[in-house]
Amino acid sequence: MLSNVVVAVDGTSGSGKSSTCRGVAARLGLRYLDTGAQFRAMTWYLLQRGVDVHDAAAVAERCGEPTIVSGTDPLAPTIAVDGEDVSGPIRSAEVTAAVSPVSTVPEVRARLLRLQHELIGEGGIVVEGRDIASVVWPQAQVKVYLSADAAARAQRRIAEHAHLGDVRTAEAGLLERDQIDSGRATAPLTMADGAVHLDTTALSLDEVVDRVVAMAEEAA
Ligand code: C5P
Repeated sequence: MLSNVVVAVDGTSGSGKSSTCRGVAARLGLRYLDTGAQFRAMTWYLLQRGVDVHDAAAVAERCGEPTIVSGTDPLAPTIAVDGEDVSGPIRSAEVTAAVSPVSTVPEVRARLLRLQHELIGEGGIVVEGRDIASVVWPQAQVKVYLSADAAARAQRRIAEHAHLGDVRTAEAGLLERDQIDSGRATAPLTMADGAVHLDTTALSLDEVVDRVVAMAEEAA
């Protein structure tokens, strides 16, 4: 049943996960969970408190403090920390540069995993991240792994967030995050068993959404 389906979408930074997931969820009347926003919210909180994000022990000690709440409407997703809407601040260059180191810390991942499990619940949701099909919800009926050439990804990022600087800097930042996300010991970015790989470099957003919608309808 479509109302119980879990669509897990993993992939590299800037491969089109957010736009794809929101489009699929909106088309199918499902909820949408952006787990990257949760890691960003945690990072924003730690930076606000002056925690050194490269000090794993300090991050582990403080990561239990914030209350992070994700709104799952694909047309208007929200993310709040201790009641404050942080949708804007979590996209800043400062948070973007600090989020991958924070995400390597096992205590952070364990804390957010509990939130993710609560939200996924009975299903009816499209979930995007790096470890959704491998760790968070391996039983997902639909598993998609999105990738795209680094140059195309950087172009898209700058089109969405002009404040992040020029394309070359954006590309370097994306590649650095990919490297940290793929190389970490706990829940690294990986293509899970049974995942369908879509290279989105030459595909339009509508084409990618159509393919994932078809997979979900078939699986339901
Ligand atoms: O998807 P987004 O680029 O907003 O994710 C920001 C960062 O959060 C990633 O680079 C990664 O370090 C971390 N992340 C993660 N696991 C997830 C989702 C995001 O480690 N499931």
